[in-house]
Amino acid sequence: MASLQDQLGKLVYSTEKGRLCPECGEELSACICDELADQARLKQLDGIVRIRRETAGRKGKGVTTISGVPLPEKEMKALLKRLKQRCGTGGALKADTLEIQGDHRDQIKALLESEGFKVKLAGG
Ligand SMILES: [Zn+2]
Repeated sequence: MASLQDQLGKLVYSTEKGRLCPECGEELSACICDELADQARLKQLDGIVRIRRETAGRKGKGVTTISGVPLPEKEMKALLKRLKQRCGTGGALKADTLEIQGDHRDQIKALLESEGFKVKLAGG
């Protein structure tokens, strides 16, 4: 069964077809701007994932942030899902930084290392 959102998505898709993206020059349906932005970001990374606890301006235990993840956005979202499951808490992807609610540095470090990332605990 197609959800309302799917139907709306198709509608947008068909009306956009044929129009070109002003940034990359591809059809909007085949726009590669997100990929280009990902590639530019990935190029600047040093391959080390940094885990940091941030409490400033936040209630309770604050959040654990994970930056420098050398993955395209799509895979960052999948990683976020795994981290939230592992820690049993909420989280979000903000720009290129993953935020996990609460202090879960050890669990996050263990999961990332088990997936082959180089991990560094940074800051307080
Ligand atoms: Zn584009």
